Amino acid sequence: MSFSELGLGEKLLEAIRDAGYTTPTPIQAQAIPFVLQGRDVMGCAQTGTGKTASFTLPMIELLSKGRARARMPRSLILEPTRELASQVQDNFQTYGAQHRLTTCLIIGGESMSEQTKKLERGVDVLIATPGRLIDQIDRGNIMLMDMKLLVVDECDRMLDMGFIPDIEKIVARLPKPRQTLMFSATMPPEIKRLADKFLSAPQEISVAPPATASERVEQFMVRVGAADKRAALRHLLKSETVKNAFIFCNRKRDIAILEKSLKSHGLDAGALHGDMPQSARQETLDAFKRGELTLMVCSDVAARGIDVSGVSHVFNFDVPHHAEDYVHRIGRTGRAGNDGRAFMLVTPDDQKQLGAIAKLTGMDIAEMKLDDAGFEAPAAGEAEDSAEPGRGRRRPARGRNAEPREANPRPAREPRSRRAAKPQERADEEAAADMPPPAIERYQRPEPDRQEPRRYAERRGPSDRYRRRDHEDDDAFSDASVVGFGNNIPAFLKIVPRLSPIDD
Ligand code: AMP
Repeated sequence: MSFSELGLGEKLLEAIRDAGYTTPTPIQAQAIPFVLQGRDVMGCAQTGTGKTASFTLPMIELLSKGRARARMPRSLILEPTRELASQVQDNFQTYGAQHRLTTCLIIGGESMSEQTKKLERGVDVLIATPGRLIDQIDRGNIMLMDMKLLVVDECDRMLDMGFIPDIEKIVARLPKPRQTLMFSATMPPEIKRLADKFLSAPQEISVAPPATASERVEQFMVRVGAADKRAALRHLLKSETVKNAFIFCNRKRDIAILEKSLKSHGLDAGALHGDMPQSARQETLDAFKRGELTLMVCSDVAARGIDVSGVSHVFNFDVPHHAEDYVHRIGRTGRAGNDGRAFMLVTPDDQKQLGAIAKLTGMDIAEMKLDDAGFEAPAAGEAEDSAEPGRGRRRPARGRNAEPREANPRPAREPRSRRAAKPQERADEEAAADMPPPAIERYQRPEPDRQEPRRYAERRGPSDRYRRRDHEDDDAFSDASVVGFGNNIPAFLKIVPRLSPIDD
């Protein structure tokens, strides 16, 4: 099967050739003809299958006839994260190079007024995350009556992130009849329910997932003491031939510490997590994509769907809380026919999560012993602190080379003076010390435009899928403290009162 048999016009075929594609992927071969016929489609496919082009290509063809009117976009694509939304927009730029279609991103973290200006000029394709879209609709900046085509992408991810009520709210406002395409990697009952509600006589298409990670990615785990993680990571970065790598942490504050620590050791590192301004997020990702940044220290916001070709390594600095996140994380390497290597640092506290990963993947990850490869954990008293900033700073190393704990510990010694500490050790301490204090002390008033959705699934169930997760970034969930309000402290409680000095 070739692209020319799918019913796409000559301009698109040329753009496809320019993109270097010769044959349609199975989801493209199956979906494109139906989308061109105006049929609803339920596509069971995940990222890496060429799914994005399976809807962007026919959309360009369909939308090339006609023009958008001010504030009345003609089509809508809903994406769970800002990065995925921006990736879809890139697709329109690539494939739509010969067409004069306008796209607009409606995502949180970016200026609302810029988005509004664009909407006023008329937009053919709106690519949005649910929360910001609802804001813009509520403000009357978007009229939906011309919306003839809707794509709900990554439905199961939307479900995980608690976006389903938002999506139902948006879709309820869209005109009928319209063409609707839904894509999901899996079909849990909740997605099936949505499909029944949104789609009319859909064509169901299911494609096999791309080569599983285990086929393309060599996986290793490294057992290490919690205090030795940074040293172990640096050792791996030195001993492996790393072209570029994602380094996943569970908590945002650890991302910042690790990024700073790696930089202080002369390594080229950047950070990506959900608390960063959107412009910084995009800048880091673009630099990484262009090959101008080697190490991307990130949260799970980068784990799904982010398509960077030729990533040589993934390092799990932390064992992920959710086993399925492991699969998504390591799936950032070993893409598009390339091989990849994935390492995971495992501390004695991680046994339960490790078991969950083994159960999900159906395999035991090979253990690599760092001692064998010449790793020396920092000696006792010199260990790097992996503790949270602000907590007890220098714990003795508990790594494999650490001295065993004494039965009768000596009286506490005076802490070593900062000046006596080794320069690198000091740099790491500084990295930790510079870290922002916990969120409660760092609260800033939100921008006047409501931040990307702080809404959650109403429903709860015993399964993780229904647990609350923070808006478009799972990482806030990872930072969760689970007492009281848990991760959902009302904004007014986060305001730190400014105390004026007391006059004597
Ligand atoms: P996606 O599943 O849409 O995230 O696409 C995964 C990757 O496959 C992206 O890097 C696309 O550029 C690439 N791709 C999409 N369609 C094709 C095709 N027909 N041939 C080769 N690569 C493709």
